[in-house]
Amino acid sequence: MERIVYVNGEYVPEQEAKVSVFDRGFLFADGVYEVTAVLNGKLVDFDGHMRRLHRSLSELQMAMPCDEGELLAIHRAMIEKNALVEGMIYMQITRGAADRDFTFPASATPTLVMFTQTRSIIDSAQAKTGVRVVTVEDLRWGRRDIKTVQLLYPSMAKMIAQGKGADDAWLVQDGMVTEGTSNNTYIVTADGTIVTRDLSHDILPGITRAAVLRCARELQMKVEERAFSVEEALAAREAFSSSATGFVSPVVEIDGKALGDGQPGPVARRLRQVYIEESLKAAI
Ligand code: PLP
Repeated sequence: MERIVYVNGEYVPEQEAKVSVFDRGFLFADGVYEVTAVLNGKLVDFDGHMRRLHRSLSELQMAMPCDEGELLAIHRAMIEKNALVEGMIYMQITRGAADRDFTFPASATPTLVMFTQTRSIIDSAQAKTGVRVVTVEDLRWGRRDIKTVQLLYPSMAKMIAQGKGADDAWLVQDGMVTEGTSNNTYIVTADGTIVTRDLSHDILPGITRAAVLRCARELQMKVEERAFSVEEALAAREAFSSSATGFVSPVVEIDGKALGDGQPGPVARRLRQVYIEESLKAAI
């Protein structure tokens, strides 16, 4: 089936989707994005993604290209036109096309693009086997809380991980883990406490992170939001990551060292299960 892409008000076959070479997303990575998971043809935590989108845009002095109701309608139309049952919708908003200049143009019309990807989220192979990560120095810019499209360093870090035979990289700044290339990171300490880095400019405020922490607290699990070191992670009982399309993914190995018995841990498995149940109930 031919994939239908949304570009600035039109639904077109992907070969026909076009954006200007002067688009500032292309020239300056001057744009933001959101990835929303789709389960059973419904959107997971759409409101959370909209809240973060508003924040990302306002931090960059960019306007919404249309109102939230319209964005929801386009998301739903994309699900329908692509017969999407399980997978994700990628949405990108850039400042638009303007003659190349470092200052923001006084008037540019934002570019709005969306496409879908089909993928198995619930029945994921990595959730069963667990993920092997290596630590890589975090060399990204200082405003990682804004979900911009400048993803070159995460991409390089993922290649470093792949080159070492691992699945992903955990990024490290001053000896402390910030987050994964495209996910938030957690460890479970010897006394069962879930530790994840506190929110700041250093990490992306994951929509899944907020939901997972809510589930953990409802399950009476102890949670600490603070930075943790690579040493602490290596000594952890278990570890996991979270993201819109990975949900909760158990991490079984860090820098070649197996955590616990080298299998997905009970806390990650339980949180994954509860998060899936909650998402299936609340998806719109
Ligand atoms: N951290 C980074 C750097 C990311 O790129 C992502 C998702 O793409 C996340 C965390 C997880 O965020 P979310 O749960 O909203 O997908």
